[in-house]
Amino acid sequence: MKLLVTGGAGFIGSAVVRLAIARGHEVINLDALTYAACLENLRSVDQDPKYHFIEGNICDSALLETVFSKYEPDAVMHLAAESHVDRSIDGPGAFVQTNVIGTYHLLQAARGYWEQKNRPNTFRFHHISTDEVYGSLGAEGQFTEETPYAPNSPYSASKASSDHMVRAWGETYGLPYVLTNCSNNYGPYHFPEKLIPVVILNALAEKDIPVYGQGLNVRDWLYVEDHADALLTVLQKGDIGRTYNIGGENEARNIDLVKMICAILDRLRPQNRSYSSLIRFVEDRPGHDLRYAIDPSRMRNELGWRPSVTLEEGLEKTVQWYLDNEDWWQPLLQRSGVGTRLGVGGAS
Ligand code: NAD
Repeated sequence: MKLLVTGGAGFIGSAVVRLAIARGHEVINLDALTYAACLENLRSVDQDPKYHFIEGNICDSALLETVFSKYEPDAVMHLAAESHVDRSIDGPGAFVQTNVIGTYHLLQAARGYWEQKNRPNTFRFHHISTDEVYGSLGAEGQFTEETPYAPNSPYSASKASSDHMVRAWGETYGLPYVLTNCSNNYGPYHFPEKLIPVVILNALAEKDIPVYGQGLNVRDWLYVEDHADALLTVLQKGDIGRTYNIGGENEARNIDLVKMICAILDRLRPQNRSYSSLIRFVEDRPGHDLRYAIDPSRMRNELGWRPSVTLEEGLEKTVQWYLDNEDWWQPLLQRSGVGTRLGVGGAS
């Protein structure tokens, strides 16, 4: 297939691009190269003749029209977004601009192209979204595809808005779409401001490891390469107009996750004292959702998909990757705004 991937220089997008190229697909990566992008993530594929890169913004409708007519993709995988919850609290405008307005422009361009091509029902608009649109769970229950939306942060509200638009473009104009809502990702190339890299990199620098509140918030963690595999599965096998929740089947309280990472580091990079002695509880994030959990039945029963690694295995691979790839993360720490955020840390 020929895939137009937006946000392919980001954390999940680059995993999708690497996997899609490895599986023989042609990829057009459209990315605005914001602070969160890193073209180094694509070094293993960027010389491949099946890979094309366009630096551009999804809010630029003229550019989008040109890209669609030049490359004639079979599908769009839309990952471009502002993605960091803490940043959405400090500055929600960028989230509305990219996640809402940008998705609108992309939908319009995809619709124009699809209509011009006589509405092929093989075309897919795959919108990649988050389980955070469902809001917060108590101690019990899981999000299903029928759970009502109740976003609590500017980030999740902007993603919820984009999900609704995708659904509406399907209902109103017939645009063939699939929608996925996924739990927290982790793994190689995760941007240093996110929780798991913050823990690893602060521990290595012998700095405090910040944990919001009492660390009791629960997240379901999905290894990023499993997510990329799940996305290609939904794109190729999912039903038009259907939503699929993707989870890692790996629920953990933040404090337990942090202690697991410290224990792995104690083994891989031993020191006199355990890295867990660096853990410090910090003031909680406003509107911090208590628990997210995904009911994975639809992915498992309809598409036969399950995650391939446990949290323990995925964390070990991730910690090892950060130990082996200082050349990747060290320059990112120097980028403006990132270093200072390391002291704060996000839950995702
Ligand atoms: P990321 O922040 O690492 O990458 C986002 C990419 O989008 C960057 O390369 C950035 O340059 C690009 N981008 C941003 N604004 C753009 C614009 N206006 N035009 C073109 N490109 C633009 O994000 P991520 O963590 O890889 O997440 C990718 C997608 O998956 C997002 O839509 C996010 O909502 C969703 N998601 C993320 C997670 C997670 O745990 N990270 C979980 C579920 C869903």
